Amino acid sequence: MSSIVTIDCPQQEILKKRTEPIKEGEQMLAEEIASKLYEELLPRMPAAGLAAPQIGISRSMFLFSYDRQIENLEVVINPSFTPNDETQFAGWEACFSVLLSKNTWKVAKVSRYQNIRVRYQNLSGKTIEKDLTGFGATVFQHEYDHLQGLNCVDRPNAEIKSFDTKEELIAFMKDVKKEDAKRYEK
Ligand SMILES: [Zn+2]
Repeated sequence: MSSIVTIDCPQQEILKKRTEPIKEGEQMLAEEIASKLYEELLPRMPAAGLAAPQIGISRSMFLFSYDRQIENLEVVINPSFTPNDETQFAGWEACFSVLLSKNTWKVAKVSRYQNIRVRYQNLSGKTIEKDLTGFGATVFQHEYDHLQGLNCVDRPNAEIKSFDTKEELIAFMKDVKKEDAKRYEK
């Protein structure tokens, strides 16, 4: 039984709320949230990421992987980012909160910065600063949006494609994932 919050379930409002940061001294809580995120995401791998509001927790945390692989999943706490240049890439994005909904299957084509500098804390409380490019940059911005209460399908200027069934969405994303793979960069 999935405990992922979808855009049409009773807890959906949490997806539209801005999250609260993890504060100093909340290490235990951060670890608890991280293990809940892993618990939901691991059975669904390969996948790009999952944000805390999607499991009903309004805190600034997410998991992401720059190549959808399990070994590259990272715990991200209190993230921020700045674009390194103006280069953008528009690609189709799916989201578990939409995919797992009862009857609204859509994907969004969203323009994202391709070269960003990210800053966040890891589970040990260490501040990480690094550059992300390509698909990793896209995913980071998708998950970051969740912490702002924004789903890709509600993003201004997003192009939306709707499907009659979840299976059609999955089939469509199969080809998208092949394209994404060309943009995997560590
Ligand atoms: Zn999402």
